Amino acid sequence: YKPLVAVVGRPNVGKSTLFNAIVKKRIAIVEDIPGVTRDRIYFDAEWLGREFTMIDTGGIEFVDAADRIFTDMRYQAELAIREADVILFVVDGKTGMQPQDEEVANILRTCGKPVLLVVNKIDSVEQEMNMYEFYALGMGDPIGVSAVNLMNLGDLLDSVLQHI
Ligand code: GDP
Ligand code: MG
Repeated sequence: YKPLVAVVGRPNVGKSTLFNAIVKKRIAIVEDIPGVTRDRIYFDAEWLGREFTMIDTGGIEFVDAADRIFTDMRYQAELAIREADVILFVVDGKTGMQPQDEEVANILRTCGKPVLLVVNKIDSVEQEMNMYEFYALGMGDPIGVSAVNLMNLGDLLDSVLQHI
């Protein structure tokens, strides 16, 4: 059994970029064949010799009767609550807080699992102040990272290890 670390958040905050940065592999995120792509979004990772499995819940897709592909943030968050040992709740430091972030926070807040609030797109020291508005989500101290620049991922993973 490896602990499961789930990445949760609204679209475009950088969940997949963060997931790829942590698992250190580029994997196919876009599925050619429409359908639930859940099996493609699990990947094993390791930090300081500790192994865990990551899941990018944003990659869980559904197809409706008209062949439209959609995702459901609420379902993704609930799956993470059910299955994960640690939840990485990702928000976007460039766009700032959005109503959908509050929706996700409302689902996660009372889940009883450890939730780490990750403010992504903190690409430089000057942008660190963008983290602070997210205290208002009531999810504890935000951890600022840049998935693209690989900044502060070590601190984030240290925090993950404290919970697994
Ligand atoms: P997802 O929908 O949450 O999985 O988001 P993606 O990982 O697909 O990223 C959405 C967009 O944000 C892409 O254009 C990424 O290149 C961009 N992005 C992701 N991480 C960062 C980051 O740390 N800094 C910046 N500036 N852009 C980022
Ligand atoms: Mg994604």
